[in-house]
Amino acid sequence: MADLKLQGIEKRYGKVTVLKDIDLHIKQGEFVVFVGPSGCGKSTLLRMIAGLEEISAGELFIDGIRINETPPSMRGIAMVFQSYALYPHMSVYDNMAFSLQVAKKGKKEIDESVKSAAEKLQLTPFLNRLPKELSGGQKQRVAIGRAIVRNPKVFLFDEPLSNLDAALRVATRIEIANLKEGMPETTMVYVTHDQVEAMTLADRIVVLSAGKIEQVGSPMTLYEKPGNLFVAKFIGSPAMNVVEVTEDANCLGLSECCNIPLPDQKGSKQIKYMGVRPEHLKVGNSDNTLLTGVVSFIENLGEVTLVYVDSKCSEKPIVAKLQGSKQFTKGDPISLNADMKKLHYFDTKGINIS
Ligand code: ADP
Ligand code: MG
Repeated sequence: MADLKLQGIEKRYGKVTVLKDIDLHIKQGEFVVFVGPSGCGKSTLLRMIAGLEEISAGELFIDGIRINETPPSMRGIAMVFQSYALYPHMSVYDNMAFSLQVAKKGKKEIDESVKSAAEKLQLTPFLNRLPKELSGGQKQRVAIGRAIVRNPKVFLFDEPLSNLDAALRVATRIEIANLKEGMPETTMVYVTHDQVEAMTLADRIVVLSAGKIEQVGSPMTLYEKPGNLFVAKFIGSPAMNVVEVTEDANCLGLSECCNIPLPDQKGSKQIKYMGVRPEHLKVGNSDNTLLTGVVSFIENLGEVTLVYVDSKCSEKPIVAKLQGSKQFTKGDPISLNADMKKLHYFDTKGINIS
C-alpha cells in the first residue's frame, strides 16, 4: 500500500557509476518490472529500494517520506531472491512464521497469517514438510509466503524464477500473476532478464541498459512503440530486424534487393534505420515487397517457422517468423513483404521517429 518515488538516483562503487539519473514514480498497487541485460544495474536498483545498498546520490520516497537513511527493517518492504534461502531444519510452517515470531506477534495472529499465505500459494498440504521434501517451485513459493506474512507495503522480487526449470517457471509465473491479482493494493517491483516474464506480469516495464532507463511503459507500448533501437531490439523474440537505410546500400527507393518505403520526404531525411519485427514479415511478391534474398537457415518449431534470409539489405540475415510449419530449402529465392504500418523508423541516434 505504498507509492514509491525515485528522484535522480545514482549508484557509484568507488569511481565506477553503475546507475545514474534514475527518475521513476511507481504508484500504489502497481506491478512494475525492471528488465535489461545482465549487469545493467537491476539488482542494485532493487537493493537500494530495499535499503540493502547505500544510495550515492538522489532521493528515495515511500508515500512522500524520504527514506534514504531508513534501515531496511523499517521500510515496510519484503524481498524475494533468486535463491530461496529457507531454513533447512524448519518446516514450511515455521519458515513462514519465523519473522513474525521474532517480531513477538501473538500465536493466533501468526497462525492466521501463515495459513492465509499458505492458502494463497497452495502450500496448505505442505505446511509440515521440510524444505528438502519440496520441489524447486514449492520452495520458491515458501520464500514468497515468508514475505507475504509480513504484510509488506512493497514487495520486491529479484529474478525469483531463474532457478526453476522451464515448466516450473511457467507455472510459478502464473502463480505470481494470481498473487498480484489477490493483492491489488500491494506495490510490487520485479526484476528479471526474461522478457516473457516482463511482458506477462507487468503493468509497466522499465527497460534498463548500462545503468540508465531506456524507456518506461506498458508492455504493449514497448512492443508497438519502442522509443529507441535498444528497446526495439530488446523487446520481442526473435529480435526486431533492423536495416540501415543508406543510398549506398541501395535501400532508398526501388532496387534489386530492397524497397524500403519511406514515410514522407521531409521526415525521411533523418531516417537512418528501418525496423520490422519477424512476425510482421510475410512471404510473397506484392506491391509492397520489402526485400528479396535467399533462404540461409530454417528453424521449424511446428507452431511457427523461423526463416533466415540473406539479402543485400543487411549483413545480418533478416528473420521472418511465419505461422505454422513451412517447408523451405537452403538457397531458395524468397521475397518478403510487410504492412507499411508495421515498420519502425529510427534516426541517427536510434530514436524512434515513426
Ligand atoms: P543486474 O542485476 O542487472 O545483472 P547488478 O545490479 O547486479 O546488475 O550490477 C550492476 C553493475 O554493478 C555491474 O556492472 C556489477 O559488476 C556492478 N556491481 C554490483 N555490485 C557491485 C559491488 N559490490 N562492487 C562493485 N561493483 C558492483
Ligand atoms: Mg541481478
